[in-house]
Amino acid sequence: MSIRQEVLFKIKPVELEKIEHPKKVSGYFGENTFSVQAMQKHIAKATFEAFKAWMSEGRTITLEQANEIANAMKNWAISKGATYYTHWFQPMTGLTAEKHDSFISTIAPGKVIEKFSGNKLIQGEPDASSFPSGGIRATFEARGYTAWDPSSPAFIIESKLGKTLCIPTIFISYHGEALDKKLPLLRSDEALNKAAIALLRLFGHKNVNKVFSTCGPEQEYFLIDKNYYNLRQDLIMAGRTLVGAPSPKGQQLEDQYFGTIKERVVNFMFEVAEEAYKLGIPVMTRHNEVAPHQYEFAPIFEESNIAADHNQLLMELLKKVALRHNLVCLLHEKPFAGVNGSGKHLNWSLSDNSGNNLLNPGATPEDNLQFLTILAAVLRAVYLHADLLRASVAMAGNEHRLGANEAPPAIISVFLGEQLTEVLDTLGKGVKAKVSRRDIIDLGIARLPKFNKDTTDRNRTSPFAFTGNKFEFRAVGSSQNISTPITVINTIIAESLDYMTEKIKKASAGGGDFNTAVLRVVSEVVKETRKIRFEGNNYSADWVKEAKKRGLPNIAATYKSLEDLTKPENIRLFEKYKVFSKDELLARFHIWIHMYDLTLEIEANTLIEMVNASIVPAGYQYEKLLAGSLHELMSLKKTSGLSIDAAALKDKKEHLSEIVSKIYYVRRNTIEMGKLLAKAAKLNNEKRAELYFNELKPLMDHIRRHVDQLECVVSDDAWDLPKYREMLFVK
Ligand code: ADP
Ligand code: MG
Repeated sequence: MSIRQEVLFKIKPVELEKIEHPKKVSGYFGENTFSVQAMQKHIAKATFEAFKAWMSEGRTITLEQANEIANAMKNWAISKGATYYTHWFQPMTGLTAEKHDSFISTIAPGKVIEKFSGNKLIQGEPDASSFPSGGIRATFEARGYTAWDPSSPAFIIESKLGKTLCIPTIFISYHGEALDKKLPLLRSDEALNKAAIALLRLFGHKNVNKVFSTCGPEQEYFLIDKNYYNLRQDLIMAGRTLVGAPSPKGQQLEDQYFGTIKERVVNFMFEVAEEAYKLGIPVMTRHNEVAPHQYEFAPIFEESNIAADHNQLLMELLKKVALRHNLVCLLHEKPFAGVNGSGKHLNWSLSDNSGNNLLNPGATPEDNLQFLTILAAVLRAVYLHADLLRASVAMAGNEHRLGANEAPPAIISVFLGEQLTEVLDTLGKGVKAKVSRRDIIDLGIARLPKFNKDTTDRNRTSPFAFTGNKFEFRAVGSSQNISTPITVINTIIAESLDYMTEKIKKASAGGGDFNTAVLRVVSEVVKETRKIRFEGNNYSADWVKEAKKRGLPNIAATYKSLEDLTKPENIRLFEKYKVFSKDELLARFHIWIHMYDLTLEIEANTLIEMVNASIVPAGYQYEKLLAGSLHELMSLKKTSGLSIDAAALKDKKEHLSEIVSKIYYVRRNTIEMGKLLAKAAKLNNEKRAELYFNELKPLMDHIRRHVDQLECVVSDDAWDLPKYREMLFVK
């Protein structure tokens, strides 16, 4: 029996104690967060007012006030049982980082007290030399600083034997350059805020003093049994299977999507949600996804910065809680070939400080005009900066999905739905919109329908789709930190909002009718950006052709897409909006290329080991079985005159030859792969990425195809690697 088969008998759900009366969520939601309400209870009124002013207007607080908040935070955390604290940050790896310190401080020999000062709250200094900086910081000037981000509440992470206070921070170099994912996001929200307010002022909104982006990321993931996971080097090392024959039953019956959630999985989901609620993460929707053992959690949307923190925390929770259930959560974009991979639809919108969604079509002509103006700004942003959107999701994992008929193609386009398309098209032509069936708003110069969120049709194949009152960016990878895509969306839209503001100001400068001026600008922009709109099937081959005719970029390779970050106009854009300096942007380019290289090297080296230490030996075992039986038959034939059908004997020999050849073939290509890696080691990072995309990946696929064929013939007893049909269907 193979190890794999032995494991099959060990697979069972963990025993759980039944909870008769689950707690009401409203009773404990956010109990492990130092929320604004918790802070208010623990600090003086004046300090709280100062804190609020800091949040809304950017006026910094004094060190005394910071000390008071730090002290309150410490007392709150200690009252909850925390003994350690950490600055929690998001380095450019896209993961989160933490370095824990105890609250203790010595006051006399052998005597300690719990102490936490404002200084420590506001600034920390982890030894930062091992985080990627993309050349921003040489190791000899390793200092990196973490600085408190008060806009995201501190929280307590519980483990069985203790609790840790986590303080969300940004991570910067000695000279103030962003070394993380979070600072650029905060900066981009600031750029968006300024641009949106300027536009809203034109529309007569005097009281709006803050506009920010909102985000709801829909997190997809796979779950597999931990026993199987432990037997798959590829899942452990690379997060995805590098070999594995397709399961006869995959997703073709379409019986998984929204299907009944298995009890083992739903128990897991209950626990994830409970942990999430304690941390104030508003997870809302849970369901089965398309592929077997694929699932999704979607939250209620929040301010982007918080949504990004919460998504990082949710991903951690999914992994942590899965283990408690003897499961492993796979967040990779393509853990299994042949069935859907995982993405993270990023729902994005704009909100003002009164909670108005600026992408909500309005009921009045003025509101509608404002809505159309912002909509036009989004179209223009995507049209001009499709390359940046594509680059914001460029990574090794996502390369398997984009364009593979399960996620949008690498061609970025916008879907608006029939009703809006009709309105925009008639605007562009200067003709009155002939919208039937619906209420019409007469603007005198044009007639606009009253848009209704629920009437927007759906197109699941579009990478950037309007879904009634928000846009959904569907090309984001499931494992990605969403900060970068949000940063890009915010920045390009800030730039387009500024453009609209300037144009409208100019068009209405002569004292003409404001509405007419706005409509003229909107029509112009709509006309200029027509090419970015596509309402059809984005998965079809025709669209690829059509997009090419339209001149829309279609970039499959990560390295090529990332190169776009270095275009002078893109550097200028990010510099203008103070989101990335040139150095900061180039640093990201270098880090992401390097991460791509490292990912592929890990995959290739894992595959080499699997082939040599597991697959080929299994092949030999089977080869020996065949050779032995052939040998025995032949000797029986000789010694006892056993008669063997000539065709059957021929077949047996052919089968053995096939196995011998296949093993040879796999080995030969694996040796080639080793040579390719040695050749790549001499190249710079960019050239390496190019070589990996063009040669290494096809070679890995080639090896895989032959290994997968072997898997289907080699005796089940000899095959130690858990099979797709087992991993994806175990109950
Ligand atoms: P669907 O994808 O079917 O439209 P929902 O309307 O429920 O599903 O929304 C999906 C995600 O979009 C949810 O996570 C939700 O919180 C988020 N969302 C809804 N409104 C907004 C908004 N104004 N800004 C950002 N995200 C939003
Ligand atoms: Mg959705």
